[in-house]
Formats: sequence, C-alpha cells, structure tokens
Amino acid sequence: MSHSTRCAACKSLRRRCPKDCILAPYFPSNDPQRFASVHKIFGAGNITKILQQLPVHQRAEAADCMSFEATSRIQDPVYGCVGILSQLQQQILITQRELEMTQAQLAFYSAKQQQQEEAQQEKPLMAQSPVQYCDGPSWFYPNQQDPFYLDQQHLLPPGFL
Ligand SMILES: [Zn+2]
Repeated sequence: MSHSTRCAACKSLRRRCPKDCILAPYFPSNDPQRFASVHKIFGAGNITKILQQLPVHQRAEAADCMSFEATSRIQDPVYGCVGILSQLQQQILITQRELEMTQAQLAFYSAKQQQQEEAQQEKPLMAQSPVQYCDGPSWFYPNQQDPFYLDQQHLLPPGFL
C-alpha cells in the first residue's frame, strides 16, 4: 500500500512510497529541494543506509545534519560546511584575544588608578590642584601613548572599530 502523497524521496526516485518508507518522515513532499540536495551529495542509497543504522530517535537529527552538509557542499563545493566551521572558529579566536586584551587593559588601568590614589593620599590636601578633581579619567581618551592602543588596531579585523 502507498500513501496518497509520496514523500519527496520516492517522488524524486519515481517509485511508490511504502507506508513504512524510512525516508518519508524526514523528506516530506512539500520540500522537494531538501531531498534533491541530499540525494545529489550523498545518494539515496547511502541516506537510507545511514538512517537504517540509527535508532529512530536519532534519525531526524541525522537527516537535518545531512541536509545541512549537502546544502553547504553545494554552496561551497571546496570546503562545504568545514568552511563555515573554520569561519566560526576564527571568530571565536578573535573574540578570545579581544577578551584577553580587554582583561589585560582592565588590570593595567586599575593598577594605575590604585597607584594614583595612593600617590594622592600621600600628598597634603592643600597641595592638590583642583583640576585633578575635574579631569576625566585618562582611559576615556585612548592615544598612542596607551600601550594597548596600537595592539588593538593590529589585532581586530579590518573595519571592526
Ligand atoms: Zn517515501
């Protein structure tokens, strides 16, 4: 017995879709492109074999995974989804460096601030210029004397700042 509507796989392969068709739950007839991509990259026989080897509860995820891999491979025939992975890893790396740099900056400026506070406490109160109270903290105004400023320019991808 066959369904009233065949799944995308059986329709594409021009065969009847059995009631227990293993592909039907993952390749519905309303998304023929999904099966077309996966079939082009893996082949219908391999897709069936992979799904058969898996317990039922893992099959949907496997089908999604094959679909993602196939779509990526069609879009980028050389690297496929590895291209996306390495792009994301690169982003993680850049963000990790940025975080390290920001933490180093934070440590540097809080040490500097502490030094300034200690120096002010040592001076007699009357000797202090009122300007010192009005000045914004120096870390508001990054300049080239800032030891981290050039690093930051160098580290971040172009157009980031
Ligand atoms: Zn089918």
